[in-house]
Amino acid sequence: MDSFEWVDATSVEQAVALLTAAAGPGGPVVAKAGGIDLIDLIKEGVVRPARVVNLRSIEGLDRIAFDERGGLSIDALVTLAQIESSPEVRGRYPALAESARHAATPQVRNAATIGGNLLQRPRCWYLRNHYFHDDGVDAAAALASGEHQYHAIFDNAACALVHASTPATALVAYGARVHLAGPGGRERTVPLHEFLRPPRFEQDRDTTIEPGEILTRVTVPAAARGTRAAYHKQTERDSYDWPICDVAVVLEMNGDAVAAASIVLGWVAPTPRRASASEQALIGKPLTEALAREAAAHAVAGATPLAKNRFKVPILEAVVRRTLRAAAGA
Ligand SMILES: Cc1cc2nc3c(=O)[nH]c(=O)nc-3n(C[C@H](O)[C@H](O)[C@H](O)COP(=O)(O)OP(=O)(O)OC[C@H]3O[C@@H](n4cnc5c(N)ncnc54)[C@H](O)[C@@H]3O)c2cc1C
Repeated sequence: MDSFEWVDATSVEQAVALLTAAAGPGGPVVAKAGGIDLIDLIKEGVVRPARVVNLRSIEGLDRIAFDERGGLSIDALVTLAQIESSPEVRGRYPALAESARHAATPQVRNAATIGGNLLQRPRCWYLRNHYFHDDGVDAAAALASGEHQYHAIFDNAACALVHASTPATALVAYGARVHLAGPGGRERTVPLHEFLRPPRFEQDRDTTIEPGEILTRVTVPAAARGTRAAYHKQTERDSYDWPICDVAVVLEMNGDAVAAASIVLGWVAPTPRRASASEQALIGKPLTEALAREAAAHAVAGATPLAKNRFKVPILEAVVRRTLRAAAGA
């Protein structure tokens, strides 16, 4: 690992200024939150910074707040452990609490922040090997004909990388937005599903964050009364693992019938995928086992699995069906 300069930021404004300042020779300036992903990438030689700006030293950027009108606000430095244990999140956004609870290990969740989680790079052995970043190496082609068991089964013609964040699956289902602060005091808010962009080997980020910007918080609208939700992350083994797929379901009910549905599929497409046909199939009907099966069949229609990840299709279908039934309380 090459040496780099380390700076503890004390405010968002200072962090933005440090990230915007020219790095000089030797590499880029990068932000660090929990460091779980960034330090891995530095050790693997994929990121070679000249300067690391530590965000964890910024005070007051680690709070969860809720009000009935504005909904939920999660500061960028809130850890996954805080989300998992927050009474507000557990009570009002159970699918989000579950997604945090099932991410990584307790040790990782104590350090990993929601900002860094959404900005982490894909868990792909080709992307995380500096050889596949060399000029002339076609990493996407290597992946397409190589070890792509855990990669995309939708929208994978150009590149089968998938976003790594599992809390993103639940946050997209709840209609979350990300808030950013940038150079010149500029602030902007973007729906999370627009913020995440399809990962590519030739990119150094898989979101629409701009150079010098800091993600400051994530907000989630207040859930309508009677909303029901569930989340399931399917892994190969019961101990901590990355998912084969994960599914978040948020339902607004009108009596026994579904009034509105949000069904989001993670780890099966480059970005969390809305299962729109499945959502439509539910509207106005009670969520019976037969209807859950029908909706799950819609969710996998049009999948284009690769040679080594066909197994993900029936697993995804089963997970959608079970998560729908769990959300319905069955
Ligand atoms: C064993 C293991 C299992 C795991 N399992 C899962 C899992 O199941 N699901 C899952 O989602 N994740 C999982 N992870 C990944 C882990 O959750 C992420 O690496 C972690 O959440 C990243 O957050 P961080 O705060 O450490 O980010 P960092 O590593 O500090 O940063 C990640 C990236 O975000 C940028 N960044 C961070 N914060 C900001 C900010 N506020 N503004 C602008 N840029 C910022 C950094 O520059 C860097 O590019 C696992 C990791 C391990 C080691």
